[in-house]
This record gives sequence, C-alpha cells and structure tokens, in this order.
Amino acid sequence: MTESLACIGLGANLGDVRAVLAAAYTELQRLPETRHHRCSPWFRSAPVDASGPDYLNAVACFDTTLSPQALLEALQGIERRHGRERPYRNAPRTLDLDLLLYGDQRIATPTLTVPHPRMHERAFVLLPLAALLPDTVVPGRGPISTLMSSVARQSVWRAD
Ligand code: ADP
Ligand code: MG
Repeated sequence: MTESLACIGLGANLGDVRAVLAAAYTELQRLPETRHHRCSPWFRSAPVDASGPDYLNAVACFDTTLSPQALLEALQGIERRHGRERPYRNAPRTLDLDLLLYGDQRIATPTLTVPHPRMHERAFVLLPLAALLPDTVVPGRGPISTLMSSVARQSVWRAD
C-alpha cells in the first residue's frame, strides 16, 4: 500500500504541557504502519477565541499507510488517554491532536475534514509546519508562505 505524508498538529495548555506533548509524540511514533517521523520546534501561543493559559504547540509529520479515518481514531485514542474532555467549544485542553494534512488529499466526511478546516488561519499551526516543511502547499488554500503573511499579527513565539 502506498504511504502518505500525514502532518499532525499537537497542542496543550493545561497541566504539565511539555510532558504531555512529549508523551503524545512518543505515542505517535509507536503507531502501527507509521514511520519516519519528524517534529517541528515547539512554539508558544496565546489562546485564540478562548481563555486560559498559553498553549504549547508543535507539528509532527509521518509516513503512514493508516487510512485518514484510522489515523483520526488513533489520535482521539491518544487524546483520551491524556484525559481530554470536551466540556465546551475551544475549552482549555490537556491535549489536542489534529490531522492537518494527509498527502495532498482533500477529505470531507461528517467526522473528518482534511486539510484541517481552520489550520490556514492559525499561526500556531502554520509556523511550526513551515519550520518543518517550508514548501508545503495546503490543498485548496495555497502555499504556506502566503498563508503565513495573513496571520502575522497573531502572537506565536519559539518556546526554546
Ligand atoms: P479543534 O481541534 O478544531 O480545536 P476539537 O479538537 O475539539 O477542535 O474538534 C474535534 C472534532 O473535530 C472531532 O470530533 C473530529 O471528528 C473533528 N475533526 C474534523 N476534522 C478533523 C481533523 N482534520 N483533525 C482532527 N479532528 C477533526
Ligand atoms: Mg482537535
């Protein structure tokens, strides 16, 4: 089966965020049918349309033969193991894992939209992704360099 490059956004703003993201990244590396992982540097960002502590964010990329839906379910399993609850929209979260890109596919099902429907307007996604894969073109949205210029006013900064 052909491999696809899957890009996953990681974010957390509750608890020991560094420990949670490091553990989540380790779990991502152990997913079946998945290899050749790379992780962006970590970035901090102020919550968008939400309250609470600053977020820690990163983007990780993998070659995988898992289907997009199987990958989403695996991400939700990892979120659950880290105590993710969804009391209300944009609530602070111990761990958020989003499937940002799956190759150059465009997917729209009731449970999964790829590219992630809000990634192009989020500097905390675009900056780490550009650090990792600067030539990315987001299907239906355009080159990441162009997308980044429209989020330049959001406050996102390198965490290290
Ligand atoms: P967000 O990550 O946008 O802040 P949530 O994590 O609370 O919001 O949203 C989770 C819901 O979004 C899930 O129920 C999932 O089915 C749906 N969803 C749709 N597309 C994606 C995607 N590409 N990655 C992750 N979740 C997605
Ligand atoms: Mg999410």
